[in-house]
Amino acid sequence: MSKTLTLILLTLTLALAGCAGESSSAAPAPAEDGRLTIVTTIGQITDIAQIVGGEHVQVVGLMGPGTDPHLYVASASDVDKLQNADIIFYNGLFLEAKLEDVLEQIGQNKPAVAVASGIDPSRLLASPAYVDEHDPHIWFDVTLWREAVLVVRDTLIAQDPANRADYEANTAAYLQQLDELHAYVQAQADRLPAEQRILITAHDAFSYFGRAYGFEVRGLQGISTDAEASTADVQNLATYIAENEIRAIFVESSVPVRTIEAVQAAVRDRGWEVVIGGSLFSDAMGDAGTAEGTYLGMVRHNIDTIVGALLGE
Ligand SMILES: [Zn+2]
Repeated sequence: MSKTLTLILLTLTLALAGCAGESSSAAPAPAEDGRLTIVTTIGQITDIAQIVGGEHVQVVGLMGPGTDPHLYVASASDVDKLQNADIIFYNGLFLEAKLEDVLEQIGQNKPAVAVASGIDPSRLLASPAYVDEHDPHIWFDVTLWREAVLVVRDTLIAQDPANRADYEANTAAYLQQLDELHAYVQAQADRLPAEQRILITAHDAFSYFGRAYGFEVRGLQGISTDAEASTADVQNLATYIAENEIRAIFVESSVPVRTIEAVQAAVRDRGWEVVIGGSLFSDAMGDAGTAEGTYLGMVRHNIDTIVGALLGE
């Protein structure tokens, strides 16, 4: 009798504990339609997850247009989203510097995958700022970003092998588009004479771009945006621009404009007029629903803007 009662009480307690556990969670419930819930950091990775996952996934991107991943700190609601995810994709290489701890902690219970992990380290550039770190801005070389797509594909297949054929087909179609994109960027870059291929931007995001497409690149701020440019940085860069008679410099959508405007003013003091050639999408993409809100559109916008401004078109 008492054993039965104990069993009933124990069952009841466990059932109540289960209910309490569910109702106390403020985050949205996991998809009940069988789709995988994927949480991503930068827009470029959100884009990959949506394209490769297709109808089998719902993707929640943490960082929207204009958001700087170097400085991004997780909110309480972000932590809820990460805890409710089936899979987390992030860039890695210390791009999401202030999320590393939370990603590592939550990643102990579920796949939290750095898409940069698929790239052979011999193809990575060293970080000029941090010893033993690599430059995280891998999406600027389309052939490197291809490898990130394969990481997403392989992770989805491992987690959801029933839909392998769809993940493979979605990936194959997207890789075709990426190959065409790479050829387009190269063809656009080739319109510029070699000596005019100098790209000056707000921060050092474009080194992979420079290596892949033959540009010398200089950023006002370093590899991360966490340190403000000094007056000496501005003056040195202004001297370089004036001496080389560079026609255009560029702002970035996720970095305040005033930093590059200070350079423009300092160049003018040296008797040379440099124009601000436009705004580039570096670490964040454009608004959802616009061409620049996709990786393909963002990369096209950047190369068209750079080449057009440097040619003075
Ligand atoms: Zn950056």
